[in-house]
Amino acid sequence: MLNFTVGPVQSSEKVRQIGALQVPYFRTPEFSELMLENEKLMVKFSKAPKDSRVVFITGSGTASMEATVMNIFNDNDKVIVVNGGSFGARFEELCLIHNIEHDVIRLEHGQLLTEELLASYDGKGYTGFLVNVHETSTGVHYDIDMISEFCKKNNIFLVVDAISSFLADPFDMEKLGAGVMITGSQKALACPPGVSVIVLSPEAVKRVENNNVKSMYFDLKDALKNGERGQTPFTPAVAILEQINARLKEIDENGGVEGEIARIAAIAEDFREKIKDLPFEIVSESMSNAVTPLSPLNVSAYDIFMTLKDEYEIWICPNGGDMKDKIFRVGHIGALTTEDNDVLINALNDMNRRGLL
Ligand SMILES: *Cc1c(COP(=O)(O)O)cnc(C)c1O
Repeated sequence: MLNFTVGPVQSSEKVRQIGALQVPYFRTPEFSELMLENEKLMVKFSKAPKDSRVVFITGSGTASMEATVMNIFNDNDKVIVVNGGSFGARFEELCLIHNIEHDVIRLEHGQLLTEELLASYDGKGYTGFLVNVHETSTGVHYDIDMISEFCKKNNIFLVVDAISSFLADPFDMEKLGAGVMITGSQKALACPPGVSVIVLSPEAVKRVENNNVKSMYFDLKDALKNGERGQTPFTPAVAILEQINARLKEIDENGGVEGEIARIAAIAEDFREKIKDLPFEIVSESMSNAVTPLSPLNVSAYDIFMTLKDEYEIWICPNGGDMKDKIFRVGHIGALTTEDNDVLINALNDMNRRGLL
């Protein structure tokens, strides 16, 4: 199968080889060293400020979203949540579950966040802002510079779920003044699912240390303390952390984060150029390099997903809910090439000839 979904995505040969090996014991200086290197490279690639820390959670991206909401905010906070799709809805639900006072900027699917929308939240005493910079479910990439400016002006602590855009779109944690950035192993990190990553600025670390979290597994104080010596409080997904290490080093040796963003951007651009003559409409005005959301003009989006899967051995990403028949998404993250794009385009051309588009 050729995988154009948004995760899990295809992994490099090197990452896959690690998956075939025995899992090593991890309470060792060698594993500690690997974890400290993972932390250093994550700080480097997210452009986090000096003295930032990184926590690796064994759990999918949502685990890190939940840990962040629980550890960063408390009764003293009043938070803005951007909800423009299923991942924004997740942050809203997490605030409800954990009793974090919040107001929601509710956007239609595909709608952009604008300055006018933000203006009504100006000077209202908010202390936190939760946003999925790339709302992967609709393919909308929000204007993070605008959000950052708004947060700086209002002295609001900014939490960015960059799970699907980290390594795909430019992101400078320090320049943006973001307190937290979250990502996951199965998106552009292109490793198996199971580990998510929270990058915490020094201000975020302070928030964690002054908070009183009622959880054992999600107590980031504990994770930070263990992390000082390159360890985790509980048994982590050891092999995936080794794969993340190989992948981070692979990126570091190939032009760093800029090199990887440029590589993914080129694959996305190549695909968007080649798709032009097919009967699809590109849905969003503001896209991430990670994904192209497409709307078929004549047929069901879900049928296209099924036919590509069953007859062409290609996975694209279907949408759920009321977007099921209207939108499908093509991912550009993971170990993909422009030749892979050709295989997908050829399949779509063939479907078009068969009258299936
Ligand atoms: C994939 C993704 C997540 C995490 O989903 P999990 O299934 O929990 O890994 C969260 N936010 C965004 C924007 C995502 O793309």
